[in-house]
Amino acid sequence: MVNVLSHGKIESLIREISARPVIDPKEESMANENFDADLIVIGAGPGGYVAAIRAAQLGAKVICVEKEYLGGTCLNWGCIPSKAMIASVERMQDAKHGADLGVVIDGTISMDFKKMMERKEKIVQTQRGGVGYLFKKNKIEHVEGFAKFVDVHTIEVEKDGNKKTLRAKNFVLAMGSSVIHIPVPGLDGRRAEGVWTSDDAVTADHVPGRMLILGGGAVGVEFSYVFSGVGSEVTLVEMMPTLIPMFDEELGKELGKQLGRNGVKVKTGAALEKCEKVAGGWKCTVKTGSQVEEIEVDVVLLGVGRKANTDGMNLEGIGVKLHRRGVEVIDDTLQTHVPNIYAIGDVTGRIQLAHVASHEGIIAVHNILEGKAEKAQYKAVPNCVYTVPEVASVGLTEEQAKTQGYDVKIGKATFRPNGKAMAAGHQDGFVKVVVDAKYGEILGLHMIGSHVTDMIHEGVAALNLEATLDSMIMSIHAHPTMAEVVLEAYEDAHGLAIHKA
Ligand code: FAD
Repeated sequence: MVNVLSHGKIESLIREISARPVIDPKEESMANENFDADLIVIGAGPGGYVAAIRAAQLGAKVICVEKEYLGGTCLNWGCIPSKAMIASVERMQDAKHGADLGVVIDGTISMDFKKMMERKEKIVQTQRGGVGYLFKKNKIEHVEGFAKFVDVHTIEVEKDGNKKTLRAKNFVLAMGSSVIHIPVPGLDGRRAEGVWTSDDAVTADHVPGRMLILGGGAVGVEFSYVFSGVGSEVTLVEMMPTLIPMFDEELGKELGKQLGRNGVKVKTGAALEKCEKVAGGWKCTVKTGSQVEEIEVDVVLLGVGRKANTDGMNLEGIGVKLHRRGVEVIDDTLQTHVPNIYAIGDVTGRIQLAHVASHEGIIAVHNILEGKAEKAQYKAVPNCVYTVPEVASVGLTEEQAKTQGYDVKIGKATFRPNGKAMAAGHQDGFVKVVVDAKYGEILGLHMIGSHVTDMIHEGVAALNLEATLDSMIMSIHAHPTMAEVVLEAYEDAHGLAIHKA
């Protein structure tokens, strides 16, 4: 079959190809004699360390420069420590509800916060060691220190006042992002004054009596779950009408209800107007609609605000363009405006998720080492929140699908009647599927409930393979599993759910 391109399409392809930066052949030919490595990766977070390993697997000589800890934000301050803390709280709550399942526990059940945090630290250190082991196994040179560009092939790495120069043919920028203190009138202080960021929360040495957590995104809701679980009186303040506003709004509403049941005072559509220092903490003025209230707390935890790590690296000096939120990539091939330099993960200021950073790292490395122009795929990025109940989502929300002009069909099923959910004592939550009514294509899958962060991947596969509702209905789901509720939601989109009351 002949594929005829329109005149306009050909012109736009020519524009795209000529806009792509090319490597100067003179520089390319210098490569082997003058370079310490084929590739230097700057940053060893989930973007950088995965990129470094893949490059080594493809036969490249690789150096990874890291100024702090292997594993980056995710492993040391983000995904892993927060999930270790959540696991402790969840286990304690399971124990408290054990009597419902016939478990007899004599005496009181409480949390030893010091032990909980020691366990968290041990997990972080073990995982960090795991990355070090993988570097050794793949013969990746790990250089400690802060990297700064001298020219497009040269960096200077500084550690404790000592400097060394390294040259490479190509670079992957994977410097990630760091917490910032977003401005709140009157709130002037750091950890010692009771103003925490997520970095302080994962290294906390005590449980504050009262906390105000600002921001009802993933970070804010997860810490609300943790600190209310270990006994803090938590007020959660979110500006948007529902929690986790990036998700389908039904999920945010349900999560708000569940956190409320666990004792978190959830305030949505609310703003932290100002704070005033008082003995032992902060008096916070919170405005919800026309209602203004003053809430006294020991700690204000800023659950929002991160900044790409681009300062002090002379990036613009060598031609890497920056935008407001980080390093600019020319397109989803992840090349920057300097042809031998690519950028991945949080530092690009795009999607801030560990698995996206890793995916981008792999795409960038194949493009660099195999001369390809593959694009990262963002159609089916799972987004998860690890509260109890968990939240997981992939693809379009109902609202997004409608805005994009789809005629939408919805299927919904709850965990309540499901046999496995009842047996496990985890019956809260539901599954919602968004389907294109015309062709039956699955457009989005959204869930709240126990283990949904593990169950979302059938939605990821369905979206990537452009699966239809009928093909998913023909995929047998094991009994008894929580995943049967996903099948039930597909059936419901046809109005044929078996277990619907
Ligand atoms: P990073 O992990 O930030 O790593 C960048 C590394 O580069 C750092 O180690 C830094 O020290 C180093 N570096 C920076 N500049 C230089 C320099 N000039 N020279 C040398 N080294 C340098 N994401 C999820 O997907 N799931 C979750 O459950 C999740 N939970 C989170 C919970 C919290 C509390 C937070 C804060 C984040 C969470 N995230 C989660 C987000 C996730 O941590 C990030 O998206 C991810 O770490 C980004 O990876 P990265 O490799 O781009 O950067």
